[in-house]
Amino acid sequence: MSPPSYVKKFDSGELQSCAEKARKILRCCTLCPRRCRVDRLQKKLGICRTGALARVYSYSPHFGEESPLVGSNGSGTIFFSSCNLGCVFCQNYEISHLGEGVEAGPGQLAAIMLKLQEQGCHNINFVTPSHVVPQILDALVEAVPLGLNLPLVYNSSGYDSVETLRLLDGIIDIYMPDFKFWKKESARKFTNAADYPEAAQKTVAEMFRQVGDLRIDDQGIATGGLLVRHLVMPDCLDETKAILTFLAKLSKRTYTNIMDQYRPCGKAFEFPQLGRMISKEEHDTALSYARDVGLTRLDRKDWSRFLGRH
Ligand code: SF4
Repeated sequence: MSPPSYVKKFDSGELQSCAEKARKILRCCTLCPRRCRVDRLQKKLGICRTGALARVYSYSPHFGEESPLVGSNGSGTIFFSSCNLGCVFCQNYEISHLGEGVEAGPGQLAAIMLKLQEQGCHNINFVTPSHVVPQILDALVEAVPLGLNLPLVYNSSGYDSVETLRLLDGIIDIYMPDFKFWKKESARKFTNAADYPEAAQKTVAEMFRQVGDLRIDDQGIATGGLLVRHLVMPDCLDETKAILTFLAKLSKRTYTNIMDQYRPCGKAFEFPQLGRMISKEEHDTALSYARDVGLTRLDRKDWSRFLGRH
């Protein structure tokens, strides 16, 4: 198997130059669509409340991700603290909103990646990476000469900026964004980011431009491409339909995980609409929308109902 393209970019010096460009953005941070313009290198904090160093909540081989990422040995997840989007219903509220976690410099982050590789993980899975792209790139510059060669997964909320994603072109192997809301009003109410729908469309389109449809090897392991997650929300099926239509227009082969596990967490109970789980009927309707718009690759656990077997 040929080495990931980020290894070649390290050899040519391009990885180092992307890391340098990204680090400069921290001086007046416009890394994500929030565009806070704070100097994070001088400990000024924007909406993500993260300064010059990334904070890590946890890291481990993880078996709860989509099957092409998990394989037999797990996906090597690194959970970053804080978040640039901040959904009110976040299942990981303590990590995303309260910022629980420990600061890790580039050397420590590189050591974490190498440990996950030693543990046999099939990939390095950066969870909530949008606000720490420069820190990830700095860590890769340290990890590659020490032997890191696993595919890299960028597992974001979909609230990314195209300019920042361009720095990751040829470095990230697998993009795994969420696509949460289609309507500005929902995004404003639940994330205070009315521009989320527009940003997410641009994000997913740019990710697809870079990596194309998900590729899976003969062992069932993802080697590159795009995998999109959509969490079905209470009373939001019209948005689900619009999002699936958008994904099908991008490519009928967009690998899509239509998730049914919404439950009220964080501050969800402050919003009457969010105070319940979704029904089986709602999830089934979402799956039927996927079929109607022509999507052909749903995450495996969805296939039986997608095909109408029960
Ligand atoms: S990464 Fe953080 S500081 Fe930078 S623009 Fe986004 S929310 Fe603001």
